[in-house]
Amino acid sequence: MIVFDLDCATCGQRCESWFGSNADYEKQSAGGLLACPACCSPALSKAPMAPSVPRKGSQAPIARLQDEMLKDSRWVGDRFVETARAMHLGEAAAEKVHGQATLGEARDLISEGVPVCPLPLPVVPPTQVN
Ligand SMILES: [Zn+2]
Repeated sequence: MIVFDLDCATCGQRCESWFGSNADYEKQSAGGLLACPACCSPALSKAPMAPSVPRKGSQAPIARLQDEMLKDSRWVGDRFVETARAMHLGEAAAEKVHGQATLGEARDLISEGVPVCPLPLPVVPPTQVN
């Protein structure tokens, strides 16, 4: 895993985002799958990086941000795509949900205009938490 600082061209927010590799970042960026955690704008670009200096607790702010994002959100697991689509179509009551989607599924949702937002950090499904 590597972390990049991303600058949002829409709201000016700088955020940290984790990727499996630089190629992973390039793929998500090219596919329009990146989204600003503050405003969900896809207009993110890699910020100039300072030389990598280990920072104690550098993960804390983004982890807190994600906790904040998920506070009132319901885990829907692999039913995320159909749930998000149903809410978008007005077939289900709108609520905050999070769950799992493949890269292709997320791309489909975005192209249908469904407002989905990738999470900054991987989520452990509640069913796997002891
Ligand atoms: Zn933004």
